[in-house]
Amino acid sequence: MFSDLAEQLHKREQQGLLRQRRILESPQSSHITMAGRDYLAFCSNDYLGLANHLDLIESACKGARRYGVGASASHMINGHSSAHHVLEETLAEFTGFPQALLFSTGYMANIGVVTALVGREDAIFADKLNHASLNDAALLSRAEFIRYPHVDLALLEQRLSATNARRKLVISDAVFSMEGDIAPIYELIALCEKHHAVLLLDDAHGFGVLGRQGRGSLFLPDCSSIHSPNIIYMATLGKAAGVFGAFVAAQAEVIETLIQSARSYIYTTATPPLLAQALMTSLKLIQQDEWRRDALTQNIVQLREALQSLPWKLLPSSTPIQPLLIGDSAAAVHISQRLRERGILVPAIRPPTVAQGTARLRISLSTAHQPQDVLRLTEALQEIALQA
Ligand SMILES: *Cc1c(COP(=O)(O)O)cnc(C)c1O
Repeated sequence: MFSDLAEQLHKREQQGLLRQRRILESPQSSHITMAGRDYLAFCSNDYLGLANHLDLIESACKGARRYGVGASASHMINGHSSAHHVLEETLAEFTGFPQALLFSTGYMANIGVVTALVGREDAIFADKLNHASLNDAALLSRAEFIRYPHVDLALLEQRLSATNARRKLVISDAVFSMEGDIAPIYELIALCEKHHAVLLLDDAHGFGVLGRQGRGSLFLPDCSSIHSPNIIYMATLGKAAGVFGAFVAAQAEVIETLIQSARSYIYTTATPPLLAQALMTSLKLIQQDEWRRDALTQNIVQLREALQSLPWKLLPSSTPIQPLLIGDSAAAVHISQRLRERGILVPAIRPPTVAQGTARLRISLSTAHQPQDVLRLTEALQEIALQA
């Protein structure tokens, strides 16, 4: 086996596909120290600048003093602390659902929800650009797995009409992680109601950022359908919320079923309660600091205006994920390297993560970026474009 592995790794390296980790030596922020050098970074999901916020650090310390460091048991044995419980109640209230359940990560939440709710007699209908965790979950569930082209609702409806599956689960990212576009949520919910299907909405990139008070994409102005019982809402707490973990919010029957049978919920250690304590502070800031979303929006507007004249096009996106479409993989890597030489980090995303011929620079904006940071990036890209 080992010589086989070595050979495969060597092939990967020759094709320029070997992924490498670089070592971060500072907290996550707009300005970071990595592998001994300072960078202006446009890579993280810390959209609201909370990952290194003093109030969150203080809450985590208080949480550690009260609960210790480790939960040391699963939620079903005796690891479910009052900090977890209060956070679940607060998240349910914040997102407008009867109940919520914490998971250790978004990946585990998606695996747990899908495998607990559907099986062999059921069908999953999934957007082709959904997150990898949702696809893995679908395969693990053994339900029929039907993928529809990105946001092609006509095709989705055809497939929903044609199925005679017992349970029907439609799955979509709310904000697509490599495109930055927002799913047609209202239409998805209407389709689900019409066809007696349930919608699992993954709002990893919308929670904290979109909607009134950062309550997520179900609180966008054109989404008055929050009260549909056909929605299972999922979001991570390691992106805009700046901490770690994830949650699912839904009707009581759904949450109770997850507690009884979601294996990635049951068979794992509860997250440290100190994180739940930090998340309570994070939620307070998400809700009250409207200026964080305003500053983020200004950064998005500034970037889009400044990059209009480039030979490469920004994909249509109103979210902090701003992909600059390059096309050719080698060209995308080259531009990313030129930026890095200037002390600016923007990841190049290539196939198979995105479709052939659509390699891109994935620019992630944050409240932590100052207008001069965005200016430094746009000026560097304009210079690189002139040399190309
Ligand atoms: C990041 C992400 C996840 C996984 O969340 P983690 O908490 O990082 O495990 C799931 N879905 C989407 C769309 C994501 O972007």
